[in-house]
Order: sequence, then structure tokens, then C-alpha cells
Amino acid sequence: MTVTCRRCRSAPAEVQLAYAKLSLCSNCFQEFYVNRVRRTVEEFKMFKPKDKVGVAVSGGKDSMALLHSLKTAFPITNFIALHIDLGIKDYSKHCKEKVEKLAKMLDVELEVFDLESELGFSIDDFRKTVYRRKLCSACGTIKRHLFEVLAERAKTRILATGHNLDDVVATMLNNFFNGNWSQLVRLKPVLKPLMPNQTFKIKPLIKTPEEENLLYCLYSEIPFREVDCPHAHTERLKENKDMLKYLSKGNPGFRHQMLKNFLKLIPILEKAIEKPKLTTCKICGFPSSAEVCAFCKRVEMVRKVKK
Ligand code: SF4
Repeated sequence: MTVTCRRCRSAPAEVQLAYAKLSLCSNCFQEFYVNRVRRTVEEFKMFKPKDKVGVAVSGGKDSMALLHSLKTAFPITNFIALHIDLGIKDYSKHCKEKVEKLAKMLDVELEVFDLESELGFSIDDFRKTVYRRKLCSACGTIKRHLFEVLAERAKTRILATGHNLDDVVATMLNNFFNGNWSQLVRLKPVLKPLMPNQTFKIKPLIKTPEEENLLYCLYSEIPFREVDCPHAHTERLKENKDMLKYLSKGNPGFRHQMLKNFLKLIPILEKAIEKPKLTTCKICGFPSSAEVCAFCKRVEMVRKVKK
């Protein structure tokens, strides 16, 4: 028996959202998706429609769905796509092409940081360092720093990232198990800058389950990368995400419930946690807890092995 869409009551339903008890056709699903992004931005006061907003785009489904849905939900906002070419063989070129295609499609400005030509190394070069078994950790540090650089170049102080519901809940569990309370607080929907001139980091997809980003990309014909990063197997978070998917089978609202309770806990945690003592890195001038920041240490290390 064909189920009809619960919203328009005319087209056949194609998407089942068990946690919301909704069956939707493709058009109503896209509308539902964009509305949730709009409501999330408004609920957490992420930006005002006339702001300039940088959007970190890797070429993956999450960030590409983020840029497309933000542009659809806030047509008058000035979005600028920010991309880092990580120089990963057979992967980064593919990602960049997809990002360029989407930026053109949406008529959005694009700012690219090219790791190899601007800093003289690629993420692949970390295979020759102590990070060879944890490339994602080094890559994460490099990306966090360079998105700040890109935001500065684009003259924006708001940086939107594609962290979805699964990312946030999985990282939350990880930090909780490890007692990493200060990192736990950093998962909030709007993260204020640690020091002046840094960006406000916003997560407009914080309430969006990961699988819906893929569906939104497919239904909206959004280009996104079709190959996996060759270093992806070193990503620890995947195990937590698999566990969440398993738990959500029996309780479809599990991830949403976890997020809801976590958001209530944040103000209490913030009061209890001592703020990190920060200084500025003596090399790059970015906020750091040590004399030399994590980014500059990794750059120095990889340059040494390249020599
Ligand atoms: Fe970087 Fe790891 Fe992502 Fe590859 S999978 S782009 S190495 S964080």
C-alpha cells in the first residue's frame, strides 16, 4: 500500500522520520529540512539576516547541505564559502571541484586556502610524523586554525560549520567517557570567541540527523564528494556514531533526547569549569594555552620531516 505524504496529502511519501512520526514526499522533506535549519538559527540567535557569514565547506554531504539550506532559508544573507585544499592525493582535487560547482550554482563567493602552495606541505605529509596513526587529529588542528585564517580573509566573524546531530552527540559521549569537560562545553550551538578578533562558531545543523543531510543533497541535486578520504579509517568518532545508530533503532528519538538534555546541562557545566588560561602564540599570534600553539607545533614538525 502506498503511503501519502503527511504534509501535502497528495504525493507518495518517500522519507520516514520515525522520531517525528512523519512520512514525507521529497518536496515536503526539503521544506521540512530548510525550516529546521531556519528555526535552529533563529532559536540560538546565530546571526542576523544582514550579517556576513562564512560557511566552512569540505565538499562532503554535511557542509554542502549546510551551505545550500542556509542560502535557501536566508536568501538576503551574504554567505561566503570557505574551503581548505588539504592536498590529499586523489581526494582533495575532487572535493575542491564539488565545492566550486556548488558555489557557482548558488552564486556564492568562494575563498580557498591551498595548504601545499601556501604552507609547503599537505596532510599526506603527516604520514612521516608521529601522527601517522592519527592523521585526523593533526588534520583537525590544521583545519580549525585555517578556517579562522579564511574567515579573517573573508572579513567575517561568524563561521558556520556542518556539525550534525550525530557528530555532536557522538563527540559528547566521547568527551563524557574521557571526563573531558572543557571540550564538552565547546559543543554548544554558538561558541563565542576565546579572544577578540576570533570567530563566533555556529552549528545550524545541530538538530539534523546525519542521514538527512545525504537525503537533502540527493533530492536538491547538490554536488558532493563521492569518494572517502583515504585516511578516514583513523577517525575514532565513527564507532560512537555506529553505536548511536544502533540505539536509535529501538528508540528513534534517542539522539534528539540526548541533545536536549545536554543543552540544559551546558550552563551548569560552564559555571563549574574553570576557563582555560590563554595567551597568544608567539609565532602566529592566535589564542593558545602554551607559548607555541598546537597548529604551529604541527607545522614545524611536518616541515622538519619534509626537509
Ligand atoms: Fe582530515 Fe581525517 Fe577528514 Fe581525512 S578523514 S579530511 S585526514 S579529518
